[in-house]
Amino acid sequence: MLKNKVAVVTGGSRGIGRAISLEFARQGASVAILYAGNEQAALETAAQIREMGQQALTIRCDVASWDETKESVATIIKTFGQVDILVNNAGITRDGLTLSMSEENFDAVVDTNLKGAFHMIRHLFAPMMKRRSGRIINISSVAGLMGNAGQINYASAKAGLIGMTKTVAKELASRGITCNAIAPGFIETDMTAVLSDRVKENAEKTIPMGRMGKPEDIAAAALFLASDAAAYITGEVIRVDGGLCM
Ligand code: NAP
Repeated sequence: MLKNKVAVVTGGSRGIGRAISLEFARQGASVAILYAGNEQAALETAAQIREMGQQALTIRCDVASWDETKESVATIIKTFGQVDILVNNAGITRDGLTLSMSEENFDAVVDTNLKGAFHMIRHLFAPMMKRRSGRIINISSVAGLMGNAGQINYASAKAGLIGMTKTVAKELASRGITCNAIAPGFIETDMTAVLSDRVKENAEKTIPMGRMGKPEDIAAAALFLASDAAAYITGEVIRVDGGLCM
């Protein structure tokens, strides 16, 4: 389905990003994985991609940095010659109630989760525009749709990503490039592994489908948005949340 396509997945080393990278490779794509510091996880994902007979490139790159993202995009284009699919998935949490939220923790989350996506889109904008085709997929969150007590930084960044998605969709529609967002609910990854059992049990009770999602649930939606089947869908937000945010 993605034969001869080149995909860039930020935060592709672990969790949801890893599942997306592996699914894209399974469908024939070459994948560039950007990661923050966990080199071993990035190399493991790349090894699995190569086992499938596809090409993988791992780059340590802080998406919050304009310079590092610019350099990484240049390296990816030099290596693969093109980029067809960009998945802005890198994200962090620094939870806390608004009353005690520090400026540092607010900035860290916005810089990674929101500005990081801007950096990648900005550096790939011209190369993708020139090719007159492409897919941009931003991983938002139900927190960006509903808000979430204790996550003023995260919910703001994820809501911001939806505004960014629709803006980019409008700017690039005439060039044959789509830009969509996925809003996952509670997904089993390292990010949610740190939550207490009580929080997880409460979450599961509020999810109509009665369970947390798996990274593969998000990868399936990302594959659909990256595929020809989604050619006429742009500026959309697809919830993958077991019905949580109906
Ligand atoms: P995760 O398991 O914690 O993985 C986060 C990934 O992001 C890792 O690959 C990490 O790289 C990378 N990363 C973090 N900061 C980065 C930076 N500054 N520059 C480059 N890469 C960076 O998280 P996840 O649960 O898979 O989440 C992936 C995305 O889905 C995030 O945007 C998250 O907000 C969103 N999401 C998750 C859930 C959920 O329930 N899990 C729900 C809604 C939305 P290293 O491996 O090097 O650390």
